[in-house]
Amino acid sequence: NETLLEVKNLKTYYPIKGGILRRTVAVVKAVDDISFEIKKGETLGLVGESGCGKSTAGRTILRLLEPTDGQIIFDGQDITNVRGTSLRKIRKDFQMVFQDPYASLNPMMMVGHLVSEPIRNFNNKSEKELKPEVMELLKKVGLPEDAYYKYPHEFSGGQRQRIGIARALSLRPKLIIADEPVSALDVSVQSQVLNLLKELQDEFDLTFLFIAHDLSVVKHMSDRIGVMYLGGLVEVADKDSLYAEPLHPYTQALISAIPEPDPRKKKERIILEGDVPSPIDPPKGCTFHPRCAHAKPECQNIKPTLKEVKPGHRVACHLYN
Ligand code: SF4
Repeated sequence: NETLLEVKNLKTYYPIKGGILRRTVAVVKAVDDISFEIKKGETLGLVGESGCGKSTAGRTILRLLEPTDGQIIFDGQDITNVRGTSLRKIRKDFQMVFQDPYASLNPMMMVGHLVSEPIRNFNNKSEKELKPEVMELLKKVGLPEDAYYKYPHEFSGGQRQRIGIARALSLRPKLIIADEPVSALDVSVQSQVLNLLKELQDEFDLTFLFIAHDLSVVKHMSDRIGVMYLGGLVEVADKDSLYAEPLHPYTQALISAIPEPDPRKKKERIILEGDVPSPIDPPKGCTFHPRCAHAKPECQNIKPTLKEVKPGHRVACHLYN
């Protein structure tokens, strides 16, 4: 399979300004040197606790945030520094599905207008001309025909997310970055929306970067998974390999916390000590070392890099040197 997205040594740092002169007083290393790729038609899950940088990474790839360093290569083109009209053209090919469908939909706009708006931004077609296409999209995401004339507040959370998905699909993008797309929804509707995304992936030939904190949700959706901790990628592997044999101590702790539905299967939960340190002043060496039960002296000084230790399974940890 061809690679659709390649991210190389991506960094996104934010300055924190302070004082009367609004000078930079500190820098948040939200995304700190991550590299990965996504093949066409694949779903890569990006998982980690809140504040680990996964959403910032997604927004930087979409160029909603400026990268500080590194490269973003989309469909063979380096888009790291494209601006203006060229960026607008590429934006057609990648879309985002947001966590809170209500906040991301203009409450004053009729659903038909909301879904056709991205298309109208790119061509001169009228709403009337686009109506059959929009009706078809609403049907594909499982909304009733009369949804076209209604407003976002007339729908449930799950239906609003369907509107958000129809809107994201309207430009027939190649890549969809879904940022916690079901975490604001009731558990009972989460799987419906996830299954819809999977069906649409086949039908529309979509590639997904699927960002979530919930490991069961990511497992359900992804082919491969990247685990983030404090701005860095600590492990990347096929879904089965990652869940069956997590290598990084942080991934092991995350996976041990997933509830086991079968009471006969006992598993030991690994409890992590302490909190996630601040991304303003991350620990030297391996950023996980203050919380790691396996830390060795070198972990305090030498930052481990992501290395392949089994086919397709990469981990950043000195235990596997
Ligand atoms: Fe733990 Fe060291 Fe591996 Fe970091 S590099 S996860 S501190 S063993």
